[in-house]
Amino acid sequence: MKIVMIPGDGIGPETMTVCSDVLTTISEKLDLHLELIHEIAGHDSLKKYGSTVTEQLLATVKAADGLILGPMATYDFKDETKGEINPSKFFRKKLDLYANIRPARTYPKVPTKMNPFDLVVVRENTEGFYADRNVESGNSEILVTPDVGISLRRITRECCIRIAKSAFELAMTRKKHVTLVHKANVLKITDGLFLDCCAEVAKSYPEVTVDDHIVDAMMAHVVRNPERFDTIVTTNMFGDILSDLTAELSGSLGLGGSLNAGDHYAMGQAAHGSAPDIAGQDIANPFSIITSASMLLNWLGQKYQQPNYLQAAKYIARATEQAIDALEVTRDIGGQLGTKATGDCFVRRLRTM
Ligand code: ATP
Repeated sequence: MKIVMIPGDGIGPETMTVCSDVLTTISEKLDLHLELIHEIAGHDSLKKYGSTVTEQLLATVKAADGLILGPMATYDFKDETKGEINPSKFFRKKLDLYANIRPARTYPKVPTKMNPFDLVVVRENTEGFYADRNVESGNSEILVTPDVGISLRRITRECCIRIAKSAFELAMTRKKHVTLVHKANVLKITDGLFLDCCAEVAKSYPEVTVDDHIVDAMMAHVVRNPERFDTIVTTNMFGDILSDLTAELSGSLGLGGSLNAGDHYAMGQAAHGSAPDIAGQDIANPFSIITSASMLLNWLGQKYQQPNYLQAAKYIARATEQAIDALEVTRDIGGQLGTKATGDCFVRRLRTM
């Protein structure tokens, strides 16, 4: 299968090199026949083609089986008329990647103040408060006067139903517990619709227990007792914030892998940003992108019924646990190694498994 790999900005190139080595190794080991296609987006593409992303790149991605997108300096990309398009939004919208699956779990050797936990945030990815993906053209954030701005939040039955289905399906493979996160006490119409849709979907999953929390209270619950939660489903912005918190509670944002999945395509992407504060220093944690790549392999394995792809995801998960246990990791999670050395050890470990 063909996988497009885009290193992105900031720590992207260093971590994507490791990710590429890991995929090459697991492909050789389990006969995955992966073909890695290396492309550019973000600042590199802006310099070379005058745009952070191009229609040609989209065509390449559509012709492939999956995409791994590195972190993007989204904050730098302000004016689409100058080619400054947010690549993350571009792929999520163009490929209709509506489900952003963001797991977070603790590991015995990673220092954290939390009780052990293992949860997944399922975040809607194509509407909500994200003004750049709510409308067919333009942007749903409006500057009314120099001193007045309005942001519109779109919530639709279709998007709520499909994200709820993703969450309940996932919960069936886990502890069969779904928590709905919302602000229906204030956003009565939009989050009311979200809750109604989740209740409708829940009827098809009688084995799954359901509870719900208002988003602000949820922050307290997740900090106090993250072990209470299994699968959490929520709208776009709430999911973005909550999943950064859960990744950090697990020990480091550098452990935060994620998958953006639609019905036809999927994109692995670390939950964090481009981390310019640590870029180019060989200290970034590569496990977020390794985990994202492994989630993509798992998605491909399920979609095309390829047991060796499912096996590959399991190998990578086990090797991650073992590497963390052996402290063959970066400093943010208690190790002493640089990004490259962490990757080299990981690849050696995979080969001997
Ligand atoms: P951006 O503007 O691209 O969102 P940011 O620095 O505002 O970048 P993040 O990139 O998400 O936001 O980083 C938040 C914090 O987490 C930073 O201090 C960063 O160094 C740290 N961090 C993010 N990713 C990693 C990683 N892979 N390994 C170690 N630390 C990380």
